This record gives sequence, C-alpha cells and structure tokens, in this order.
Amino acid sequence: MNTSGKNYSVIIVGGGIAGLTAAAYLSRAGQKVLLIEKNSECGGLVNSFTRDGFQFDAGVRALEDAGIIFPMLKDMGIHLDVVKSPVSLGIENEIIHIEGLDSLHEYRELLVKFFPESQEEIDKVIKIIRKIMKHMDVLYGIENPVFKDLKRDRAFIFKKLLPWLPKFIFTIGKINRLNMPVEDYLKNFVKNPSLRDIIAQHFFKNTPAFFAMSYFSLYLDYFYPRGGVGKLADALINKITEQGGEILTNTKITEVKAAKCLLTDQNNITYEYSNLIWAADLKTLYRITDTEGLSQPVKALSEDAKNKFLRNRGGDSVFSLFVEVDEPPESFRKIAHGHFFYTPSKTGLGETHRAELDNLISNFDNADRAQILAWLDKFTRLNTYEISIPGLKDPELVPPGKTGLIISFLAEYDLFNKVKGAGWLDEFISELENRVLSVISDSVYPMLKDKIITHFSFTPLSIENRVGSSEGAITGWAFQESMPVINKIQSSGGSVLTPLPSIYQAGQWTYSPAGVPMSILTGKLAADQVLKNRKKRKFTAPSEA
Ligand SMILES: Cc1cc2nc3c(=O)[nH]c(=O)nc-3n(C[C@H](O)[C@H](O)[C@H](O)COP(=O)(O)OP(=O)(O)OC[C@H]3O[C@@H](n4cnc5c(N)ncnc54)[C@H](O)[C@@H]3O)c2cc1C
Repeated sequence: MNTSGKNYSVIIVGGGIAGLTAAAYLSRAGQKVLLIEKNSECGGLVNSFTRDGFQFDAGVRALEDAGIIFPMLKDMGIHLDVVKSPVSLGIENEIIHIEGLDSLHEYRELLVKFFPESQEEIDKVIKIIRKIMKHMDVLYGIENPVFKDLKRDRAFIFKKLLPWLPKFIFTIGKINRLNMPVEDYLKNFVKNPSLRDIIAQHFFKNTPAFFAMSYFSLYLDYFYPRGGVGKLADALINKITEQGGEILTNTKITEVKAAKCLLTDQNNITYEYSNLIWAADLKTLYRITDTEGLSQPVKALSEDAKNKFLRNRGGDSVFSLFVEVDEPPESFRKIAHGHFFYTPSKTGLGETHRAELDNLISNFDNADRAQILAWLDKFTRLNTYEISIPGLKDPELVPPGKTGLIISFLAEYDLFNKVKGAGWLDEFISELENRVLSVISDSVYPMLKDKIITHFSFTPLSIENRVGSSEGAITGWAFQESMPVINKIQSSGGSVLTPLPSIYQAGQWTYSPAGVPMSILTGKLAADQVLKNRKKRKFTAPSEA
C-alpha cells in the first residue's frame, strides 16, 4: 500500500455537481481540500461533450434555477453566460410553445383537442396545475437562504426571509398533502387512461403528485449555459483550483477505513482525511466501508443504514440517442423549441412500461427475441420523448448548416441488463435506435429520414458504468412510500449526515426528489456541516425521513 503522504482537512469523493459545490465552498473557506473523481473529467451527470464538431449534453439537458443555482453562482462570484431554454409540448401533429402563464390555456386546448369527451377532467387538471404554480412561486420565491450570509445580510432577512417564512410554512403543508404517486392521484379524477398517460407518462414511476404537477412552472424556469450544460461544472472547477483546492481525476475510491479516516484508490494509494464528503452512490459507500475499530453503537447504526440502502433501488434511468443531422437548425426551429416533450401517439403507454414490461423481465429467459422486439415496437410508438437541440439554444454548438439532436426517454435498467446477460445487447440497442428514429421521422421531424449523418446512444448501463450510479439512476432513489433518505424540504438540513464519524453525504442519493438543484444544495449543506465541525453530531436515521 502506498500513501499519498498528505492529510486533507476535507476529501470529497465524486466530482459531480454536488461534490464540486462542496469543494468550491470548502476551498473558499481556506480548507485543505482534495476532490477525487473516478473519471478523466468532473461534472458527473452535468456534462457536455463534442463529437465530429457537434456538441451534446450527456446528462441533464437544461437547468432549473429552483431558487438555488443562481444564488449559488452569485454567492461564489461566478458569472455564467446563460440563455432561456424555452420548452415546446407536442402530441401527434399538434405542438404548443410554452412562453408564459398564458400557455397553460394552450395546453388545455391541446388536451381538449385530443380528448374532447374529457373536457371537465382536463379543466380540473389545469386548475390544479395553476394552484401548484402558485405554490411554486412561494417555494422558489426567494433566493434559497442557504446561499445567503444571514449574519450580515440584514436586508435579506427583514425584507425577504421573514415575510416569506409564513407563506412557506403554509405552502409546505399543502405540498406534503400531495405526496402520493401522480399515477394514483390522477386516477381520482381522470377516467381516461390515455389522457392520464399523456399528462404523466414522462415522469419517473411513482413521482409525487406535487412534483409532477409542478412541471409547468419548471418548463418556464429552464435555462441553458452558452457552450453547453457542462459549463456549469467547468465554472466550479475553475473556482476550486483558483481557491487552491486540489482535484484528482482518474482515481476511483475502492475502500473507506472509517475508524482510521483513510481512503484507498484502485492503485492501492491511500489518502488521509479529517472530514470526508461522499458525493457519489450511497450503496457503494456502505459496500466499501470497513467499520472495524468503530464503537459498537456506531457500527450498529452504520449496519442499519447499509441494509436500508442495499434493500432500496435507484430510480428510473434513461436511454439517450444522439443524432448528427445534415440539416440546418432553422428547419427544426420552425417545428419546435430546442427543448421539446413530444408524444407521437395520443394512445399512451398504458401497461406497456408497467405490467407488460415487468412480465417481460420476469419471464425473460422464456421470451424469444421476436416477443421482445414486438414489445419494443409498441414501447417506441407510444412513448413520450424529450428532444433537446443544443444548436437551437446556442448556434456555436454545431457545424454550419448542421444540427445535433438528443432524443431521450425513461428506460428500465433491468431490461438492458437482461439483454446484456443474454448476449445481444448491441443488436438490441441498434433495434431500439432504428425504431426511435423511424417513429420520430415518421411524425415530427420528417427530415431525419435521409439527412442523418450518424447516430449513437447511451443506455442505463452506460450511466451506471460512467458515474457508478446504482441501476443507472439519474436522480437517486426510486420513489416509494418509505424513502431511505429525507424527503421533506423542511428537514433537508439533516440529509447530509451519516452515522459514520466525520463522514458526510451529498448529492442525488441523499435527498428525494433529487436533481441538479438539490445536488447543489446538499453539496453546500455538507460543506457547512464540515465547517461547523460539530463535536456532537445528531444523526437522523433514514427511517425517520
Ligand atoms: C438525461 C438526464 C436528464 C436529466 N434531467 C434533469 C432535469 O431536467 N432536472 C434536474 O434537476 N436533474 C436532471 N437530471 C439529473 C441530474 O443531472 C443529476 O441528478 C445530478 O447531476 C446528480 O449530481 P450528483 O453530483 O449528485 O451525482 P453525479 O453526477 O452522479 O456525480 C457523482 C460523481 O461521483 C463519481 N464517482 C462515483 N463513484 C466514485 C468513486 N468510487 N470514486 C471516485 N469518484 C466516484 C462519478 O464518476 C460522478 O462524477 C438529469 C440527468 C440525466 C442523465
């Protein structure tokens, strides 16, 4: 075993947006910080890459401020050049462009056009969305106080925070009452299953109703950094190095010796920490942590947390198809904005992605390829696609006269894993890519028929492999009745604590629902905890979340 020979006041494992945020705050505070990342570059699921002169976003396609990202950037003194990332919604041959609150009316008209018999139900849905938009205005109505200097910024406390608090508490009560899965919630008043699907099939399974129904607000909130989403990560990386923080890439942590405060990497090199922030997959943390030498009560708490995390599953994953097209962005602009949720059939997925898929996976060994491909036909015809066109947001991101598309949809990790086990993953991926391209070119983008230069894709297995995310999850844990982590915003402060001494957690696995803003928030909260360096830390067991 070799030692790196250095003791760091804080080591952060995981250079995704959570780890980068924590490192930026801790290096600013003068701590001796080392950020360790297993890949050759940082950013995790906030990442852009270039191929053949086309720039694509590998993870999140656009960002939502959520009262978090801009306050963090401001607090860090980072200027990020951004543009709005307007959203279009489409069903079959009808497309609407979300420009502001009035677009909710257009959304109503769109739904009524396809489901005229359900007008009353649609009106109810619209009424609920409108109400939730008001709640969202409160929730994200002020800059998140976590990023404000509450000791000095009296104006913020008296003019903004204090008047906002009662509204926030009132709103939190309303939100908590809408915690049931959106599928079940809609069943209460939308009878037509196709209509329910069109409203909600692009959300993760069992997404809490409030979160799903708040999406209309989020559509208005999306922005895009010029140069690609990865610019957000780049800005934090620059800040960390500027402030004297160290970043070590191509280094995968393979063991944590919790009692000795030691980490080991894949080359058997060890690193000593006073505090550790784990900003990566939590199943991995507990799998590789050696608790030998810790007190019995701490070992027991750690064992409980380990069991809980290992019993739980990561949430839905995603399949992304990247397409290089010999057609100028203007042709695509005439159809929809560069961030587009498109459903080619009003039929809806029904049980295709639920009971039928579960059945296919559990009887996989008895199913022949023809059966699986027939399911794939249906799945691709009835699905909802998130289509991102970076060149429509920033023309610099494509070669002249050409367009890059990212077509993605939620995808089940277990299916890809089974197909891989059966030895035909490459064939399956190519069958899937061809079906998606034919569905999209037969419907919304006919120019894809003969203008594609090349295409390639990332599967849930690629995500697992790249960021070490259990089940290829992109926003942490699957939604279920009892979450293994804190899922109430008013308790988010405790989300970064672990039962392990001097070890904190941050990122998508530490709070639900997660995403870029919560990863940033937990990164900051973990940094704050380290700085407080409380002698007596109160650990909130995950079951109490
Ligand atoms: C297609 C797609 C669309 C999305 N859309 C949205 C959206 O609209 N809104 C939204 O808010 N979010 C969205 N997300 C989710 C969001 O991008 C992630 O939840 C967020 O970026 C997670 O950040 P993180 O830092 O917590 O984790 P990650 O980005 O997973 O970072 C973890 C890092 O840790 C590293 N690592 C793991 N194990 C080790 C180890 N043992 N040693 C060293 N390093 C290690 C990984 O390589 C990785 O860089 C989307 C994601 C994808 C993929």
